[in-house]
Amino acid sequence: MIHYKNREEIELMRESAQIVSRTLGIIAKEIKPGVTPLELDKLAEEYIRDQGAEPGFLGMYDFPNTLCMSRNEVVVHGYPDKKPLEEGDIISVDCGAYKNGFYGDHAFTFGVGAIDPEVKKLLQVTLESLYLGIAEMKAGNRLEDIGFAVQQHAEKNGYGVVRELVGHGIGRVMHEDPQVPNYGRRGRGKKLKDGLVLAIEPMINMGTHRVAYLPDNWTVVTGDRKHSAHFEHDVAIVDGKPDVLSTFDYVFEALGLPKEDFSVPVKL
Ligand code: MG
Ligand code: MG
Repeated sequence: MIHYKNREEIELMRESAQIVSRTLGIIAKEIKPGVTPLELDKLAEEYIRDQGAEPGFLGMYDFPNTLCMSRNEVVVHGYPDKKPLEEGDIISVDCGAYKNGFYGDHAFTFGVGAIDPEVKKLLQVTLESLYLGIAEMKAGNRLEDIGFAVQQHAEKNGYGVVRELVGHGIGRVMHEDPQVPNYGRRGRGKKLKDGLVLAIEPMINMGTHRVAYLPDNWTVVTGDRKHSAHFEHDVAIVDGKPDVLSTFDYVFEALGLPKEDFSVPVKL
């Protein structure tokens, strides 16, 4: 069942989403060779608690950390570890926060130092596919229009769109209905309307769309162990149009990029 949110609830959700946004901004400043994911995880937890919020992932499905940190061929759900980041790595940082009864959940994939231009293109196209998906989140459109836009853009660039993991409704529960696949057919699925809040999160692979699980039965990797990228925003429909509750502005500021602009995807 879909829980549509009123204006007041959407503002509370914006607060939770913005806490995650600022957390990602702090992490963005610290991403460099030699830093360990576990150190970044501690920073994130401290900051979130300082905001009077709780880490959204900690304890969920027995996950022991604040951040999911997924390096290179890891698609999502990676455990923060003690292995230092290396020049040329990419790492998806996915973060959740819970405050005032509502969750925020979003993610950014960072390059560590200088990265291969081919990998950089994967990040750019995945970010663009997120923006294209968000642009479809208008009243009157259909749910699969979002995935259709994401898939078109990713596949046009020769990439694989992960099928097994999807975006989701978000609110008082981290993962609410509906599921939001990153693929689909235009004009199919539930009609979108005001008050819908979704976490849209393309997971795009450089090679095959297929994924596999590591022996821990949790960490998701690409089937061919090529790189994968992941970006996520929380988006509400307000007055018929997408209202992005989270922001990459803090991340972009840390990376020296112009402010986020959904009409013109920013070049990473
Ligand atoms: Mg997430
Ligand atoms: Mg999510």
